[in-house]
Amino acid sequence: MPTRQDTATMFDDLRQRFGDRTRASEPLARHGTFAVGGPADVWIAVEREDDLIALAALAKQRDWPLMLVGNGTNVLYSDAGARGIVARMALNDWRLEDEESDTPRLIAGAGVSLPKLVNDLAKRGISGLEWGAGVPGTIGGAVVSNAGAHQQCVSDTLQTARVLFTSGTGDEPPAIRELTAAELAFGYRRSRFRAAREIIFDDDGQPCVSPRAHIEPPEIITGATFVLRRDDPARVRERVAYNLQYRKDTQPPQASAGSVFKNPPGDYSGRLIEAVGLKGACSGKAQISPKHANFIVNTGGATAADVVALIARARRTVYDTFGIALELEVEPRGDW
Ligand SMILES: Cc1cc2nc3c(=O)[nH]c(=O)nc-3n(C[C@H](O)[C@H](O)[C@H](O)COP(=O)(O)OP(=O)(O)OC[C@H]3O[C@@H](n4cnc5c(N)ncnc54)[C@H](O)[C@@H]3O)c2cc1C
Repeated sequence: MPTRQDTATMFDDLRQRFGDRTRASEPLARHGTFAVGGPADVWIAVEREDDLIALAALAKQRDWPLMLVGNGTNVLYSDAGARGIVARMALNDWRLEDEESDTPRLIAGAGVSLPKLVNDLAKRGISGLEWGAGVPGTIGGAVVSNAGAHQQCVSDTLQTARVLFTSGTGDEPPAIRELTAAELAFGYRRSRFRAAREIIFDDDGQPCVSPRAHIEPPEIITGATFVLRRDDPARVRERVAYNLQYRKDTQPPQASAGSVFKNPPGDYSGRLIEAVGLKGACSGKAQISPKHANFIVNTGGATAADVVALIARARRTVYDTFGIALELEVEPRGDW
């Protein structure tokens, strides 16, 4: 755990290297769609792969804790925030190869905004990621949880992921490797990148968050390639518009991190939470959405502890009533 002096040195060194993309004591609440979470000692936006490699190498050499995040749309940041460095992936470039062929290839940086990309692809008549309309994360975050909607997901079209491995032994520097889809262990809202962080619940029904690795996650996605399809732009735009409207009709507009729990096999977490009468239940300023029971919303000024109290209550009540142990889709991040 860095001391106050270490933190000051860390900030000064990073400021010298990365300029005003570096901020001290940055509230994580500003960087997550739940709008909760205490400060990160140092916050930094990483815009280039070589900056990321340099940052990971520095963190290793100097023993600075480092946590990588995307848009913060699938995380619950803790009220304590995060010691050390929180780095937001801002590798925002993308391009198409063989754009005129039937199967164009998309090469996207991990920081590319998925919903913005989906709109841009629709204008060009490129199909395959329409399900991502309105899913507010980055490409990297989407790969981590094999994000999806409308019975489609990342793994349907992903070909490879570019990954920075940081946990080599001793002084071994971080190294980039390209992994094929088969190596990513994709499943429903899971991949090799989440496998080590599955959240378990203790006997009192409280989520137990395992301690952070020194560099978390140790395998950092810097980009991904997808094989997509060429289609009539009007038809792609129509599917995007349909998916967006569906979201507007079914999901709450307030601050949230989307679905809190994964759906159990053959059922829906929202249906189960509604069936146990918890739609609209509150803890502090957090509420189980009256519009969709698998969303917890921040009605203004909620804390992470408020959200955790509702998570624990919903999970316990569903378990006691139906014997179904819901799994978290949202990831608690930071120091718990
Ligand atoms: C209103 C709303 C609706 C949503 N609807 C959907 C939906 O329909 N389907 C769905 O699947 N999800 C949905 N989500 C959840 C979320 O948008 C997705 O999971 C998204 O892909 C997360 O991306 P992110 O960049 O925000 O990741 P973050 O939330 O920033 O990070 C998620 C996890 O991935 C890690 N991570 C992020 N980037 C990287 C990287 N480059 N390398 C390694 N690890 C990384 C982080 O450390 C963290 O553990 C919704 C969220 C909201 C708020």
